[in-house]
Amino acid sequence: MPETTAIKDDPVTAPRPRPGILEIAPYVGGESAVPGRDRVIKLASNESALGPSPAAVAAMAAAAGTMHRYPDGHCTDLRRALADRHGLDPDRIVCGAGSDELISLLCRAYAGPGDQVLYSRHGFLMYPISARTVGAEPVAAPERDLIADVDALLARVTKHTRLLFLANPNNPTGTYLTSDALERLRAGLPERVVLVLDAAYDEYVDRPDYQAGERLVETCPNVVVTRTFSKIYGLGGVRLGWAYAPAAVADVLNRIRNPFNVSSPAQQAGIAALSDQAFVDRARHHNVTWRAWTTDALRGLGLQVGDSVCNFVLVRFPAADGRDAAAADAFLKDRGIIVRRMDAYGLPDALRISIGLAEEMQACVAALTEFVG
Ligand SMILES: *Cc1c(COP(=O)(O)O)cnc(C)c1O
Repeated sequence: MPETTAIKDDPVTAPRPRPGILEIAPYVGGESAVPGRDRVIKLASNESALGPSPAAVAAMAAAAGTMHRYPDGHCTDLRRALADRHGLDPDRIVCGAGSDELISLLCRAYAGPGDQVLYSRHGFLMYPISARTVGAEPVAAPERDLIADVDALLARVTKHTRLLFLANPNNPTGTYLTSDALERLRAGLPERVVLVLDAAYDEYVDRPDYQAGERLVETCPNVVVTRTFSKIYGLGGVRLGWAYAPAAVADVLNRIRNPFNVSSPAQQAGIAALSDQAFVDRARHHNVTWRAWTTDALRGLGLQVGDSVCNFVLVRFPAADGRDAAAADAFLKDRGIIVRRMDAYGLPDALRISIGLAEEMQACVAALTEFVG
């Protein structure tokens, strides 16, 4: 029926999303396959080198038998386990399907058309994406030497600013703001602006002047910390994250989230993962060792590598044709090694390389040695 076809394809009558939605460049995750290769080394998504704790795997398997039951919509046991582990108030914890969900919920709750959402220039891409999703304008503040700049962020606060997202430490730069700098940022921010401290890589940081910010949550009405099971706990596929928020903010998030946003296998896996801190210690130790080894090896090749406190390194390449980041990425891919291009983060001269297993890092450095040499 030609008439029907004509109506369906008519751009005037076809359903149209709200303003701003079509300006979103969809998030592209790290690749996990190379055509023509059945085995690849995947160092593109900051996944834990050691995988999940066997305790989490067992708990998830055990939970499968009761999957006809709806989950506990309040994640009661998981929140209690998190509170015990971190010395927090369980009533201020809100769990989500990954911290991505919490980032979206915060945007939905506190920003809309005409509002601004502030973030740091090379900050996590989900911030501008989530801001646009609710019709708000993402505003990027410049960084200094790939470190978030407190003064530049504060200088961009306007009467339209509703949220400020800061990944601390940040992906993909691997840098962090000290506890003092965080305090200065908070002190300079009007209380009507929600300061979201995304501490996805907290467990990897081994610096005395770092804090995720939970203490700020307890003393300020406008500070929220988000955390995840996707990184050191190795549960990225499960989708499990949590926020620590002032009581009023937790109440808001609980009103707008889906009532069963975290599956029961995810809740059980999270509880079991928390109980296996020996596994977390092994993952942390592995990361410290191989991050240092990789950093030294790549610097030895004359490449510029930042001092990362996370489970990845950011490597800068020279601009010369055939020697740049794009060429290095293609060279690695040819050898079945997948890393992450950084064009979408405004760093086209860089590749981000996650810290994988010993032999994976050795293979990656060997390939880059060949590339550079
Ligand atoms: C990986 C990552 C997350 C985790 O997101 P989930 O939805 O919990 O998997 C959050 N923030 C940053 C900066 C990240 O790099």
